[in-house]
Amino acid sequence: MDAIVRKTSQTMQPDETNRPSREEAEAAVETLLRWIGEDPSREGLLDTPRRVVKAYEELFSGYRQEPASILNRTFDEVAGYDDMVLLKNIDFTSHCEHHMVPIIGKAHVAYLPNGGRVVGLSKIPRIVEVYARRLQTQEALTEQIAGIIDGALGARGVAVMLEAEHMCMSMRGIRTKGSTTITTSFYGTFRDDKSEQTRFLTMVGAK
Ligand SMILES: [Zn+2]
Repeated sequence: MDAIVRKTSQTMQPDETNRPSREEAEAAVETLLRWIGEDPSREGLLDTPRRVVKAYEELFSGYRQEPASILNRTFDEVAGYDDMVLLKNIDFTSHCEHHMVPIIGKAHVAYLPNGGRVVGLSKIPRIVEVYARRLQTQEALTEQIAGIIDGALGARGVAVMLEAEHMCMSMRGIRTKGSTTITTSFYGTFRDDKSEQTRFLTMVGAK
């Protein structure tokens, strides 16, 4: 059974016509190297601009993937199962949109199937990854994951919790090493029924 996929502002398409060339991107990295006081012509750095651009291609590949298409195949042969489906401890690495420095954490994602309609378990970590591989705030990332699952699955409820360390806080400025930021987003039953919300929080070990 195919879910009806709701288009949202989260499904952004990059502007390919104005995209800088790979050479321009590599030149920008070389400029940054010179700006921090390096000599881009020394042997160890000769290949660095090329490597950085290649790494960025992977780390920010989420702009060229359509999250809704990951969830467009659902199935209902689950013997009438309609209780919570929870994926705990999904590792993710994202980058903060303010400093382009890593955000490293874990996502816990749960939904309550509607009419026994479920999605392949591997699809949930892929959703987390597509949004994580963009520049993010933790708040927006949390909301985007919950929103797309709510929209695409028509679930009775969706709960998302992210626990993450922000390297821009750990490595610079106030240096709050080891501190984690927790964000949550609840839709449907998880928002309206406090006992269901508590059950989710207990299962993820937050309560
Ligand atoms: Zn930051």
